Amino acid sequence: MATDCTLPDAIDTRWKRQFRQRLLKWYAKHQRDLPWRKSKNPYRVWLSEIMLQQTQVETVKPYFQRFLKAFPTVKKLAAADEQEVLRLWEGLGYYRRARQLHAAAQQVVSEFGGRFPDDVAALQLLPGIGRYTAGAIASIAFDRRAPILEANTIRLFSRLLAYREDPTKAAGQRLLWHAAEQVLPRKQIAPFNQALMELGSLVCKPANPRCDVCPVATLCATNELGLQKSIPAAGKKVKFTDIAEAAVVVRKNGKVLLRQCAEGERWAGLWDFPRFEIESEGPLFVRDELIAKVQQQTGIRAGRTLENHQARRHPLSHHARLLRSRVRFRPSLVDPNQAGSLGTHARTHRTAAQYHRKENCETRNPSMKVSSLSMEYLAFEYAQAATASTIDNAIG
Ligand code: SF4
Repeated sequence: MATDCTLPDAIDTRWKRQFRQRLLKWYAKHQRDLPWRKSKNPYRVWLSEIMLQQTQVETVKPYFQRFLKAFPTVKKLAAADEQEVLRLWEGLGYYRRARQLHAAAQQVVSEFGGRFPDDVAALQLLPGIGRYTAGAIASIAFDRRAPILEANTIRLFSRLLAYREDPTKAAGQRLLWHAAEQVLPRKQIAPFNQALMELGSLVCKPANPRCDVCPVATLCATNELGLQKSIPAAGKKVKFTDIAEAAVVVRKNGKVLLRQCAEGERWAGLWDFPRFEIESEGPLFVRDELIAKVQQQTGIRAGRTLENHQARRHPLSHHARLLRSRVRFRPSLVDPNQAGSLGTHARTHRTAAQYHRKENCETRNPSMKVSSLSMEYLAFEYAQAATASTIDNAIG
């Protein structure tokens, strides 16, 4: 069993040779036909790697095609308006990736004349590119002898080595990066690294690894020991905190009020309904809190007439549920932000689209110089990761 940064004795020259041969042969036959595999262009490799972080392959496919159509080169992406980049990212989630992608494109143009650097150290200086992504670009686009380690290969290497500790801890990471380096062949780095990820994704699956069809089954220590269920060891569970927040839909003349999320907020740069955590309970208290917080966020001072209030619950996802209530207010005034082309979160877009269909309205440029507005709030109850950095670390 592997313990620290020393590979087990079984991982000798013969093992490595057999592993490389079998893996590459299997990949040549079983690799999926994915749009980002049609070219070794570093821009396309980079784009796909960023999109695939925390996101399923099938979800990424149409986004990748659309994005490439709009921004076929890194120069086009660098010159694009950030709102347009966010708009095309809408629905893919983890929007920080899109903003970093845009910033990195600008840096590639300003510092490298539009050509991606081909070594891991230089790539890691770009926003949003960590050790894994740098290794993927350097190896896949430039055939550099750079190791990679991401979710699929962490699982695969843990099992090949029968590593029983938590592979996400520092000692586990050291060992697995070392293993990823040691197994690299001298040539065919691009298909080899892709084959590692493909095998992890298609065969060495998290819950039910398909050892019966695995090309490296006889080289796998976990298979020999029958420990597939316990390796890799489960990491420490992320702690979640319950929070309740409201998104307030302010409507007038078929238009809805949106605001741009500020730097440092969740969804920074995107347009959203006024949204905030709510602490009160009961419709009257919630109403008062909504009035105060909408005013704080947008400058709108709402009135006090509460005509109607109903609540119902919908299952939204296993982490959130939606309560919908309707409240009527008589507010005075205000000049909210004007918006041109908007990048919005998918949920904001869907809700705004519902109003658009219902009232044939537009979602921008709300005119608030009126004496009465209707206000509706959507209250979300989330189980949110206690440490805000969890997601950022995961996609770094
Ligand atoms: S034999 Fe099973 S556990 Fe080992 S690498 Fe293959 S699929 Fe994974």
